Amino acid sequence: MIHIKNREEIELMRESALIVSKTLGMLASEVKPGVTTLHLDKLAEAFIRDHGAVPGFLGLYDFPNTLCMSPNAQVVHGIPNNTPLKDGDIISIDCGALKNDFYGDHAYTFAVGEISEEIKKLLEVTRASLYVGIEQFKVGNRVGDVGFAIQKFTEDAGYGVVRELVGHGLGKKMHEDPEMPNYGKRGKGKKFVEGMVVAIEPMTNLGTKNIKQLKDGWTILTADGKPSAHFEHNIAIIDGSPEILSTFDYVHEVLGITTDEELPFKTTSHGNLESVQERGMA
Ligand code: MG
Ligand code: MG
Repeated sequence: MIHIKNREEIELMRESALIVSKTLGMLASEVKPGVTTLHLDKLAEAFIRDHGAVPGFLGLYDFPNTLCMSPNAQVVHGIPNNTPLKDGDIISIDCGALKNDFYGDHAYTFAVGEISEEIKKLLEVTRASLYVGIEQFKVGNRVGDVGFAIQKFTEDAGYGVVRELVGHGLGKKMHEDPEMPNYGKRGKGKKFVEGMVVAIEPMTNLGTKNIKQLKDGWTILTADGKPSAHFEHNIAIIDGSPEILSTFDYVHEVLGITTDEELPFKTTSHGNLESVQERGMA
């Protein structure tokens, strides 16, 4: 069953989403060679609590930490540990926050120090595929339209699209209907309507689309050991069109990345960094 949100609920969801956005922004300046994922996890937990929210993943389905930390060949659901990150690694950080009974949930894959051109391109294509998918999340379209767009964009670039893990509806539960696969057929699946809120989250492998799971019961990694990237946003349908409730602006400000990729999916009154600061959120 799909839970439709009214405008007030969507604004509460924006607040939760922006706490995650800011947490990722804080982490952007901490990700470097030598730092451990467990250290970053503790920083994130304190930051989220300082912002009046509760870590969204901690204890969810018994997950032991605040962040899912998935380096290199790990796709998602990696558990923070004491292994230091090293130059040339990538680290996918997935973060959730719960405030006012609503969840925020998004993810960014960071370069640690200098990474190869091949992996840089994997990150860029995966991030771009997220917006290709978001563009299709509008009234009248269906779940398959988003999946098809992401899959085509990703496979045209020569990468593998993970099948077993998918995006999802978001709200008072972390995972609501509908499932939002990163593959699919145009015109198929549930129809999008006003007030839907989802997490779209392409998980893209440099090599095979196939995955395996570690014995810890959590960590998902690529079957061929090649790197995987993960980017995620939270998006609502407002006035028929997709509006991103989360933002990578905080991350990109730290990383010195200039892009207007979120611009078509932002309102003038919300969502952009300036208005966020005006509203006392920064
Ligand atoms: Mg997530
Ligand atoms: Mg998610």
